[in-house]
Amino acid sequence: MSIDEVKKRVKYGGAKGGFAMMKKRGALILACVWVCAGVGSLLADNRLKDVFLHQGPKAESSLELGKLVLYFSNRADFTLLPLTESASLHRAQKSYFFPQTKVGADAASAMARVSRVHHAWYSVQVVAVQKPIEGVRVTLTYDPEKIEVYDQFFDSIQLNKALEVMFYNKELKKRLVTGLQTPLLRRAANEKKKHGVIVDCGHGGKDTGAIGYAQLQEKEVTLSVGLRLAQALQQNGISVFLTRDADTTVPIDRRTSFANSVADEAGLLVSIHANMAKNEAASGVETFCLERSLFFSLADEPDKKFAQCVSRLLDDRYAQSKLLAQQVQDSVLACTQKKNGALCDRQVKQAVAQILLGTQLPAALIEVGFLSNKHEALLLRTKSYQQALANGICNGIIAYLRSIA
Ligand SMILES: [Zn+2]
Repeated sequence: MSIDEVKKRVKYGGAKGGFAMMKKRGALILACVWVCAGVGSLLADNRLKDVFLHQGPKAESSLELGKLVLYFSNRADFTLLPLTESASLHRAQKSYFFPQTKVGADAASAMARVSRVHHAWYSVQVVAVQKPIEGVRVTLTYDPEKIEVYDQFFDSIQLNKALEVMFYNKELKKRLVTGLQTPLLRRAANEKKKHGVIVDCGHGGKDTGAIGYAQLQEKEVTLSVGLRLAQALQQNGISVFLTRDADTTVPIDRRTSFANSVADEAGLLVSIHANMAKNEAASGVETFCLERSLFFSLADEPDKKFAQCVSRLLDDRYAQSKLLAQQVQDSVLACTQKKNGALCDRQVKQAVAQILLGTQLPAALIEVGFLSNKHEALLLRTKSYQQALANGICNGIIAYLRSIA
């Protein structure tokens, strides 16, 4: 196959129907085709491998009302299709098209399952289409007053190319973001410098969190690491506030309101979780801070000086959360390495998580390892490894407190 022929097939922009691809992605695919030219047409090889729709918990109190994940063999590039007239006044639609993508053998039943999921505020339809070009179309139908849609690409380590589409509780998100304004300004004016730590052990009680290899439950790991962390912090003279200290069910909004109620005595929050992936080879530690764009902006504020001042404070809060996340990440990697050799550093990332968004203090969420990875699950259930993780988080927090002192 000549390069020109390859180019012709790469340029989706040339196809009828106006499916323009982003240039950068086109170039990336071209480079890949060039390398794999012997394999034949790579474009024809893209397949939808699997699709999941996780429904969030109770609608009223939860920020994350659903998460749609689409896994592809080669690429998750899409174009947004022009909207058809929506069926009802209170429904909005968003339609993604994944061009020149076939439905993989295992995906067909998953597509049907996803399309059957019923949520009062949204629905999803995934269908294979043949014209004007072959591909997969994903249509979201949702109540625009209740739901905010957010999508991002992600690469689950080594294998899949994937797109994640989140359905957020719009009203709650707005309330949480607006709620940040007053405490932030108050915090800046506050001369007291107390740096207690809020330790949030993820899940608990009825909410087991992820269940991994050998039925290991996320809620057990997070509680044990969290209690050990609390002890380590106290031994260093730092006061601790726990969102739970037993196997109890605590909704996230209760955790965040508790955190905000002790904001005068605490300087930060760390939330502990454990990871789960479809790819059993995925492993390592990653730490999240709140997505920068969610620290809200005052673009419409008429008092420009005030808006600038708030914006500086928000930059500062983001920077503090990011620094906290980085210190925790680095120090956990260092501590576990002593115990068990080098772990995969999945780095600090930004996320939209309710615990981070709802907490007015600098906050980080650490995923201490993968329950779906046999090797890590076996480690995560041992007391000595839980202690190494707790020591790592504790050292990271101390390093952070020193750096902002
Ligand atoms: Zn979790």
